[in-house]
Amino acid sequence: MLDEFRIINKYFKREPKEGLLGIGDDAAVLPECPPGKRLVTSTDTLVENVHFSPDVTAKSLGHKALAVNLSDLAAMGALPYCVLLSMTIPSVNADWLQQFSDGFWSLANRYSVLLVGGDMTRGPLSITVTAMGYVEKDSFLARSGANVEDDIWVSGSLGGAAAALRHKISKDKFYPNSDFSRLEKFLNYPNPRIELGRKLVGVASSAIDISDGLSKDIKHLLKASGVGALVNYSSVPCETELNILRSDVKVKALILAGGDDYELGFTANPKYAAEILEISKDLNLSCVPIGKITGEQSLKIVDESGEKIELDESGYEHF
Ligand code: ADP
Ligand code: MG
Repeated sequence: MLDEFRIINKYFKREPKEGLLGIGDDAAVLPECPPGKRLVTSTDTLVENVHFSPDVTAKSLGHKALAVNLSDLAAMGALPYCVLLSMTIPSVNADWLQQFSDGFWSLANRYSVLLVGGDMTRGPLSITVTAMGYVEKDSFLARSGANVEDDIWVSGSLGGAAAALRHKISKDKFYPNSDFSRLEKFLNYPNPRIELGRKLVGVASSAIDISDGLSKDIKHLLKASGVGALVNYSSVPCETELNILRSDVKVKALILAGGDDYELGFTANPKYAAEILEISKDLNLSCVPIGKITGEQSLKIVDESGEKIELDESGYEHF
């Protein structure tokens, strides 16, 4: 029988690390913060039927619960160090736990992230990760530094995760004859842009991770910075499956307001454009300018003819 103790030991406890008291005590005791560094911390919960549907695989859930938290650290320019994992699960299923931990560890190992503790309770499926990382002294990214005339940039592509989800839940209404199966990886296995966040420290004037959709998240950044923006829809990057449909109003809404992308939106003085393109090339991750910061205090998104695009879906609503 798998009791809590055995589950933790089998799936979550790994080799002890020198100088760190991790899983097994009432609380973890971390090593001293390296000199000159500051701890950056964030937490996010994924709840079944709110943030993911019951048919999502355990492997994807293990990956995504960690990915969304590492994405928050990425947006701050932090290097991940360790995490806590709190799981509420309806029942104990060895196969499910194996898959979940496989998804979790394959991402955790990619960034040498340590799992230092957590919690396990019985109840409706819900996973909370608390992530901790480091930045160099005062060298971090924030939402609040954007200046008028800065370029606005976006990494990767947008709308893929939302398109895969829309197609899955209402195939008959959303391009029934299109094949969006390749886009499912954007929904189920998002990549936190850790390396990009690190390299943007000292280059970008502000940054945010795009979790609730471009328009909503850019608005957060604009509000924090006390500025506005002009965004060109035709410059907003998306995958080919969406690009061929990008003039359709439903696809516009997915690209501009679909959630779950976990790309970085950031701003930078135009003098850094070449450097950003160099970073993008080094990381083999596209970064494209999509607009400019303005002094207008509002977000204006325009199409090719300069016509304002009015969104009927302003992004993912939490409540
Ligand atoms: P407590 O009763 O003090 O809450 P637990 O029995 O819940 O302690 O946990 C025992 C140890 O296992 C603790 O160190 C805790 O951090 C760790 N732990 C519990 N659940 C998890 C999990 N899902 N992943 C990693 N560590 C966990
Ligand atoms: Mg406990």
